[in-house]
Amino acid sequence: MPVPSGSLGPYKAKRHFGKTPEPRARRRRSKDRHLFVVQKHRARQLHYDFRLEADGVLKSWSLPKGPSLDPAVKRFAVAVEDHPVDYTTFEGVIPDGEYGAGTVMVWDRGRFGTEDDTDVAAARRQGRLQFTLEGEKLKGSWNLVRMRGNSWLLVKRRDGFASKKDVTAAAPASVASRRLLRDIATDEGGDVEKAATGDPHKRSRARKP
Ligand code: MN
Repeated sequence: MPVPSGSLGPYKAKRHFGKTPEPRARRRRSKDRHLFVVQKHRARQLHYDFRLEADGVLKSWSLPKGPSLDPAVKRFAVAVEDHPVDYTTFEGVIPDGEYGAGTVMVWDRGRFGTEDDTDVAAARRQGRLQFTLEGEKLKGSWNLVRMRGNSWLLVKRRDGFASKKDVTAAAPASVASRRLLRDIATDEGGDVEKAATGDPHKRSRARKP
């Protein structure tokens, strides 16, 4: 049997599954095998986790500033450990003391495609990925290119979905539950004040004392 290139060993090693509500490490494919998810994650710092399904896992990158729809803007992305495909539905609170402690939102989700059904895992090893997204917020064609080591850049390609709109500011809520980070923290027993720092400022200032 061929050795799968996706490995959930590092994912598993970082987590205590009796404590975190995150999904257990098991390989599986979604029905159409082409899911993507972008999770907004208020951990020590706010960031966005970008994940593409390949080889029964989610190939993952962490973006300090999230994606931009403007082809002139290159967004820094750090390649991180593979996550299980079940992670595409994870939204909630990772408890204090656990890896990635903080509030996680399903910020965007949908299907992705590659030209001629390129092998995503192989393209990731080679450091160059071209794909199209069919999310609620992110659509059209994108490039992910490795600079060195784990450092990559995510850039929108020029097409009808390119825009100067600041999509992270304009569309801050969950596509799974329509909640903001502070709502998720409130519902799931997280740190509401900390989570709210990842929400639009207007909303948190308008909040009643
Ligand atoms: Mn994260």
